[in-house]
Amino acid sequence: MRGVPSDYNSWSKAGNVGWSYNEVFPYFLKLENDYDFDNEWHNQHGEISIRRYKEDELTLPQRAFLEGCKQRGYTFVDDHNRLGAIGIGLIPMNLRNGIRESTAITYLTKARNRNNFCLLANASADHILWSGKKAVGVQVIDSDGKTFCIYAERIIISAGTYASPAILMRSGIGDTATMKKLEIQSVCHLPGVGKHLQDHPIVSFPFVIKNSFTNSSIPNFQTLLTLKSSAENVSFDLMIFPVTTLLVDKEKSYTGALASLIVSLTKPMSTGWVKIPSSAASAPPLIQPDYFSHAQDMPRMIECVQYMLDIAQSDPIKEVYLEPIGFRINQFSNYEEIKKYILNNVSTLQRPRRRKRSSIHSLKFD
Ligand SMILES: Cc1cc2nc3c(=O)[nH]c(=O)nc-3n(C[C@H](O)[C@H](O)[C@H](O)COP(=O)(O)OP(=O)(O)OC[C@H]3O[C@@H](n4cnc5c(N)ncnc54)[C@H](O)[C@@H]3O)c2cc1C
Repeated sequence: MRGVPSDYNSWSKAGNVGWSYNEVFPYFLKLENDYDFDNEWHNQHGEISIRRYKEDELTLPQRAFLEGCKQRGYTFVDDHNRLGAIGIGLIPMNLRNGIRESTAITYLTKARNRNNFCLLANASADHILWSGKKAVGVQVIDSDGKTFCIYAERIIISAGTYASPAILMRSGIGDTATMKKLEIQSVCHLPGVGKHLQDHPIVSFPFVIKNSFTNSSIPNFQTLLTLKSSAENVSFDLMIFPVTTLLVDKEKSYTGALASLIVSLTKPMSTGWVKIPSSAASAPPLIQPDYFSHAQDMPRMIECVQYMLDIAQSDPIKEVYLEPIGFRINQFSNYEEIKKYILNNVSTLQRPRRRKRSSIHSLKFD
């Protein structure tokens, strides 16, 4: 699913050249082969297949959620990737024949035979090699622990939200005082490296559901409600979606099936950090998302729970979602009770990012 324009535009305003929505939109088009839409918002000739489950493919709990949201007055959106779409709809997925289409399956498969392409499996970048302040290569470590160096004219660090700052810090780019403590030679004092981590917190509300399934391999994620909190006026900042699980322990769900209504804050203001405990690449980074450290986040998450509780009272949901597991709907009559549940059950939607202040290629070294 595409991100929202206001996010990209705010990154662009923060100094990230090329990241405004208008500038990234051609790439959304270029990458996709959207099976469902052939219009100004979509392309049917890209590498990555995008499809939505059809309404007649929905499982019972997913259909109940869709109908429950409609009954509660949420707008039906046929395409969550269309500009300005907010409401209940079928989630766009990069799936072909039930398999998620990764970059490895799509782009890398095609590039494998190129003479100028080499893929090292089971190897990871340890740190950047420098000639003075010019990056000239990367020290790599393989699965046997052997290290070797690769030299290049141009080096792009693209190891994700957690590993990219870890590699930079191991390479001497970060806070000089921290580098000193870790006995890493400082190359550039850039205290923002590892800071401004943001992630989407989620809280799950599981229910015993009617089990009419004859097939155990069912899609667990099909529908999605996006919505605006009262603090948001530009785009959606909240999401609610059901996740279905079958063949669960009968002690957990007496029908053998459960579905969780997941509430999520998709525009968090709280920021955390990523640190490295030592200069060793084998030491995993320390990660602190610091959910709800910003005063605006908890009230919006609570509001999202309240929307979910209202939807859970709709007739289509009550017919399929038989009984809450580990909570009672009426326990949430006040703000403090909801807050307590959130703090005890918060988890991650696994969409971490670092709030971009300036892009790496715009960093200046003297
Ligand atoms: C379940 C799920 C659903 C998502 N759905 C959406 C969605 O609908 N829409 C959306 O916009 N985003 C979505 N996201 C978020 C999106 O996938 C990420 O934002 C995006 O993949 C980040 O890309 P990246 O290249 O920065 O990092 P990654 O995709 O994390 O890639 C980093 C790569 O670097 C490799 N690596 C790490 N350390 C090293 C090292 N030391 N040396 C060498 N390689 C290394 C990793 O193995 C990985 O392959 C989803 C994420 C998840 C987990």
